[in-house]
Amino acid sequence: MKQWLSFIFIMTSLIWLTPNLVHANKAVIQVDHLNIRSGPSLSHSIIGKAHNQETYHVVDQKSDWVQIQGNEKKGWVAGYLVKMKQDQSVTSKVDHLRVRSEPGVNSTVRGYLMKNEQAAKQDEQGEWVLIKSAKASGWVHSDYLRTYDSQVSPTESQTKTASSLGEITVTAAVLNVRSQKSTNSSIVAQVSKGKTFTYIAESNGWYQIKLNDTKTGWVAGWLVTSDAEDSTGPSTDVTKITLQFNGTNIRTGPSSNTTVLASGHKGEQFNVLGKENQWYKIQYQGKEAYVAGWIVKEETSSSDAPPTVPSQPSKPGSGGLKGRTIVIDAGHGGFDPGAIGVSGSYEKTLTLQTAQQLKRTLEQNGAQVIMTRSNDSYVSLSARTIVSNASKADLFISVHYNSYPQSASATGFSTYYYHSNAKSLASTIQSGMSRATELRDRGIRHGDFHVLRNNNKPAVLLELGFLSNSKEEQTVSSTNYQKKVSQGIKNGLENYFN
Ligand SMILES: [Zn+2]
Repeated sequence: MKQWLSFIFIMTSLIWLTPNLVHANKAVIQVDHLNIRSGPSLSHSIIGKAHNQETYHVVDQKSDWVQIQGNEKKGWVAGYLVKMKQDQSVTSKVDHLRVRSEPGVNSTVRGYLMKNEQAAKQDEQGEWVLIKSAKASGWVHSDYLRTYDSQVSPTESQTKTASSLGEITVTAAVLNVRSQKSTNSSIVAQVSKGKTFTYIAESNGWYQIKLNDTKTGWVAGWLVTSDAEDSTGPSTDVTKITLQFNGTNIRTGPSSNTTVLASGHKGEQFNVLGKENQWYKIQYQGKEAYVAGWIVKEETSSSDAPPTVPSQPSKPGSGGLKGRTIVIDAGHGGFDPGAIGVSGSYEKTLTLQTAQQLKRTLEQNGAQVIMTRSNDSYVSLSARTIVSNASKADLFISVHYNSYPQSASATGFSTYYYHSNAKSLASTIQSGMSRATELRDRGIRHGDFHVLRNNNKPAVLLELGFLSNSKEEQTVSSTNYQKKVSQGIKNGLENYFN
């Protein structure tokens, strides 16, 4: 509890690019499967995917778009789905701290830093730190520096005006803001779970919200809560929360506009006193405080054990997969719904249904199955790979559904692999599915997904259809499709093991 930092560190605010962000030089991705595009608009082609919590260098910014660069990846992402970060800042602990031309006490003194003077850390060599301040740039000894991460993230203006009818809070992980009150209209922005907006009109289940002083858009009423429905009492059976990120803000009230009391650390646990909107009320140093519900891990039991214990494999049976153990990973879950379909279906629900169907099919054919989740709970990506890596399974299958709202005509299923040891597995499963279903075969692809990259078993990720296409959303929601695709995967696995 000693390591609380007092400066402002806003983790999850919706980021609007404003002039004071030009100094930010790192972007941390806030959602999974974020499209990286060839240019700064939705009409540019998708050239890759970025994943939650990955950090990239910021190369350029244009209106609401940020150009990022990482290992082998360079392109544009939507600015409101990343968190902008500055280089690490340092301050001098002493007056007249010498700034030298080289790392070492024998090099030339170029200038001085005064006590509490701030500088940007640019490099490091042993005990020496390369800094740049307004007055000098060069090397200083790390003993005389105080280090911290500074972060900029202005919150959007939420000034209530005379025309404001009230507030809504986003309950979907990523919610499309549209030009008209219809799912057929164009997407003007995307906003993230827990964000609150004022609305200026309400019609046919849609709210017209103010994105900022000049921009408005429509959101579906079934993916938000309005202040009229807000509950204030404890309305949760979550008894404990665990912070998922360093720098999680602990606030005085249940909104990102309230004062930050302290900055919490990953792994810290708090008992839950209640829930207001999407915020958990906790006790912090004898006082009531709040933390955003969508960035913490929720625990409904009183157990202190980390919730990463692999479930017991099922009993072995007989059949073509006898003696084989397979990890089935239902994508998303809990506060992370994954993609949201045109008619409002959640990817997390379909992945769980499909994973359970696949489990039955594989077990009927003699396999043992380990599920990374078997109910609607949030399981982190690393917990999923920990389950796989710690198990004696033969392979790992992650189940997902796709979405591409920018083009409703996108359809079909594909299989991703990352390590080359999973390529033949991807091929056999893909062709098994192709024979069993009528959907478009999009083939196998190389994909840089956490659950594949950090897996020591041959691992594949299945994208089993597009929820952004309304016909396909209907098809894949049916038991019939889920049974057929499970049968196809089973056939593919039998081929693979032969
Ligand atoms: Zn997914």
